[in-house]
Amino acid sequence: MTQTNVIKEKSSLLLIYTGGTIGMKEDPVLQALTPFDFSQILEEVPELAKFACRIDSYTFDPLIDSSDVEPTLWKSLVSLIEEKYDDYDGFVILHGTDTMAYSASALSFMIEGLTKPVIFTGSQLPIGTPRTDGKENLISSVEIAAAKDADGHALVPEVCICFDNLLMRGNRTSKINSDNFRAFRSENLPPLAEAGISIRYNRQLIRIPADWSARPVFHKELDTRVSILKIHPGITPQVVRDILCGKETRAVIIETYGAGNAPTKEWFLSIIREAAESGKVILNVTQCIAGSVNMDIYATGKCLKGCGVTSGYDSTTESALAKLFHILGTNEDTAAVKALLETDLRGEISK
Ligand code: ASP
Repeated sequence: MTQTNVIKEKSSLLLIYTGGTIGMKEDPVLQALTPFDFSQILEEVPELAKFACRIDSYTFDPLIDSSDVEPTLWKSLVSLIEEKYDDYDGFVILHGTDTMAYSASALSFMIEGLTKPVIFTGSQLPIGTPRTDGKENLISSVEIAAAKDADGHALVPEVCICFDNLLMRGNRTSKINSDNFRAFRSENLPPLAEAGISIRYNRQLIRIPADWSARPVFHKELDTRVSILKIHPGITPQVVRDILCGKETRAVIIETYGAGNAPTKEWFLSIIREAAESGKVILNVTQCIAGSVNMDIYATGKCLKGCGVTSGYDSTTESALAKLFHILGTNEDTAAVKALLETDLRGEISK
């Protein structure tokens, strides 16, 4: 990992590069995309010099395509932010788009009581290409991460994704497009800010810490013994049993239809019951890109509830997974895990 000082002035940001398309540029010799040296970021994005802030950069080694992201990277990011927390006013994380929603969700749970912005961004086109979206995304992220109110508090003390002029709560966001600049959506929560001629903040949605002077709690314990079952017509008992009753599995996210509905066939419900009775946590999230699970509307939902399934409300799958990793990492007791799943911890669900 390397650290470079880029601009020295008033407020201060740490730009953390983990990999992904945004930090690539065409190497004329190799004729291939290669990561560029962040000590030269001002050459690539001279607009950054116009901000009244100091931007230091930190580059992970090795840089990775975000398809290779593992919880170890999240722990390294949390440790880095913890170590540098008092030295900076905000953090901008450059990350591949493919798993950005997972990483942003994870950090939102791993840092409790955040008082400074942690903004993830990336791009669909490398920063060194003429039509890149990387510059806009980076410049907006820097401006938002440095923004403060009249009392000197951060305007957005949250883990967010900033992409294509929208600032979205990280744990509400999903990647929805692989080749359009509008790659992310937050269907169940309006954006926290929109960048147009000026940046308009949706201040009544932005979460404010209970105590600005308290240091956040940095959680690094994660239990990843979680699997995901997407319900579909034709699903077989063997497949459902393999996923739900695996010995190593502590929790299963079931992606159900509509408002949280699943087959009512007896074989299906009896496997769910067996898994729940053996102490596994089963969390219901919808396959729909918007809307919420409500297991009280239809008989099928009621059956699941009766079998011991917990509602994920309007959670994204990415956020549900990250929340489970975090909660299971700190709780052995199934009842406590279920109670925390039902609780809105970081603005990830609306009840
Ligand atoms: N595969 C790349 C990654 O997620 C795509 C990107 O950066 O947008 O790292």
